[in-house]
Amino acid sequence: MSVSVQAEQVSQRTANLAGLLRALRRGPRSRSQLAAHSGLYKATVSSLVTELGDRGLVRPAGLRNGGHGRPSQLVELRGEAAYGLALRVEADGFSAMTMDLAGVPLASRASSADVAQLGLERGMDELAALAEAVCADLDGPPIGITVSVPGLVDTDSQVLRFAPVLRWRDAGLADLIAARLGVDLAGVLVENEANLGAFAEVLEGPGVRELFYLSGGYGVGGGLVSSGVLLRGARGFAGEIGHITIDPAGDACPCGRTGCLETKAGFPALLRAAASPPDSLHDPALGVDAGVTA
Ligand SMILES: [Zn+2]
Repeated sequence: MSVSVQAEQVSQRTANLAGLLRALRRGPRSRSQLAAHSGLYKATVSSLVTELGDRGLVRPAGLRNGGHGRPSQLVELRGEAAYGLALRVEADGFSAMTMDLAGVPLASRASSADVAQLGLERGMDELAALAEAVCADLDGPPIGITVSVPGLVDTDSQVLRFAPVLRWRDAGLADLIAARLGVDLAGVLVENEANLGAFAEVLEGPGVRELFYLSGGYGVGGGLVSSGVLLRGARGFAGEIGHITIDPAGDACPCGRTGCLETKAGFPALLRAAASPPDSLHDPALGVDAGVTA
């Protein structure tokens, strides 16, 4: 057997194992149910479930009655076997959350900050501190870390190319966070927040395969899914609609262009539109938080 065929079989088995873990996040299942869900032979599913059991990721969960024949043995995830860490950077702060293998939230922390003002290095310090706080009571490091950012991410290099609302450019976020937390770089994923939102709808939603996910906060973003697959486009920036020019004579955008959708539909723009003319929200020297409290 050639090395490449072996590698293909290993990666296919890994994908099948991951598929079963995802299916089990919806609750205990029998091997027959998992076979029907995955389209795999029942013998293959049994072998995969045995491997997941050997790895300590699933356990027996009683018998399922109903249907014909004898009751079937259910398996369920051992949620406590592993956990993941989600980190989020937004224009007005940071958040961190841990979730166990079964999808049960474990701990979360958030902090407010004017992130553009704070800058990249101090911002990463703050994010790492939140990460350490939510992982403090858990055994071992997380099995994976996902960093959500409101900007354009080059997913090959894991570099945040540009986040206008943060004023961060060409930032190696995966390196920065891995170094601060002392974890393996390979376990860190950096992704655009709207793409993650779209991806979550596909994974957790009721069979959604075609989707445009519109994200509105400080900025405006979008994630595009076709046939259940996230579309990135040739340069990896598909679905990013916030910086499409909709008013060439409009306001300057932090991205350097004029009249982007974000300058009309982003949170600061909506606040300004709702505020009366003398309101401090119209003072460009004040940030949104300062403008609201002034
Ligand atoms: Zn723009």
